[in-house]
Amino acid sequence: MGDYDNSTMRIRGKKPTGTQMVRADKVRMRWSRGVKTRRGHHGMKKGGAGVDLRHPFDRTAAGPPLAVNMAASSTLSAIHKVAIFGGTHGNELSGVLLVKHWLKHGGEITKPGMEVRPFIANPKAVEKCVRYIDTDLNRVFDSESLSNDRTGKIPYEITQAQKINSLFGPKGSKDAYDVILDLHNTTAHMGATLILENSRDNFTIQMCNYIQKSMAPEHCPVLLIEHPGVKYTTTRSIAKHSIGIEVGPQPQGVIRADILHKMRKVVKYALDFMNHFNEGTAFPSCSIEVYSVLEKIDYPRNNIGDLSAIIHPSLQDQDWKPLNPGDPMFISLDGKVTCYEGENTVYPTFVNEAAYYEKTQAFAKTEKVTLSAQSIQSVTLGSGEPPASLSTVF
Ligand SMILES: [Zn+2]
Repeated sequence: MGDYDNSTMRIRGKKPTGTQMVRADKVRMRWSRGVKTRRGHHGMKKGGAGVDLRHPFDRTAAGPPLAVNMAASSTLSAIHKVAIFGGTHGNELSGVLLVKHWLKHGGEITKPGMEVRPFIANPKAVEKCVRYIDTDLNRVFDSESLSNDRTGKIPYEITQAQKINSLFGPKGSKDAYDVILDLHNTTAHMGATLILENSRDNFTIQMCNYIQKSMAPEHCPVLLIEHPGVKYTTTRSIAKHSIGIEVGPQPQGVIRADILHKMRKVVKYALDFMNHFNEGTAFPSCSIEVYSVLEKIDYPRNNIGDLSAIIHPSLQDQDWKPLNPGDPMFISLDGKVTCYEGENTVYPTFVNEAAYYEKTQAFAKTEKVTLSAQSIQSVTLGSGEPPASLSTVF
């Protein structure tokens, strides 16, 4: 794919000291809230739950210098290979059902010039209706797991990850699929959430912007999981561009029609976006508000690791709503309330997610950040047809 690493970002906190122009090679941020990062320093901060944190956008070690030029545009290759994963977690049934449907009736996801391949990512887990068999498939797409030089008994999901990497990757190569849409359900009250992994990927930010506008007035939040202390190696990370589509609330092993319908709409708009892009539509530069992960917060626990408190009723189902200093987070069975003691308002998400009890996570703290993307257009113009503009798309 194209040169999407040469993007330009403009990041604004919600209570900024001013607009933050970020050069990713130097990362000199004057962050006004949430996390204070020393300028030009890879400062580690002790988070509220004892998690060592780097700033979510401190990627000093990666990527070329970025030019601050919002007028710049990116010309990218057309999208040819798209995969839609369901059943990365076998008990998240909206994606399982949709992918099984599309495997038999693919007309709904057919677009000219694109191979759109529905795929059950963890078939054994789907068969048993469990999240995973041996280990979480959505955490094992690191280079060590994907290498073939392991000995001894290999966990099922590692074998499956290697198979997926050979079918849709190899990860990081020019042969990798252009886009993977990875379908998930959450037990949290998150609505139709788009999960973004790369704040410099113009194409994917533009796709999120298109989906958000298409879903309006329904809130379609974007969760950025780029924080090095929280980021994990997802199944979809083998593609050049990827979005996790996380829709809830829905219990594990259950299908709700409203949740399935929302997921289906997001997939439709994602494919529509790619189709418009391939047809030569010029997408002007845009900005989107994202919720950037700061840290995960565990439940209070006793000295043998059992929960000593649960999510407070005033936080339950309040994903994306502000959590202010002094607000209750947890309550013990004898009524003791634990309040949020941070300095700044944060926005919790994945509140009381069933799958995250094993991951010692009660919820994730995020902060609102604005990401900007350059204008993009595909290189496949030349048919004689004038390109559409975004205004003709909506
Ligand atoms: Zn999942």
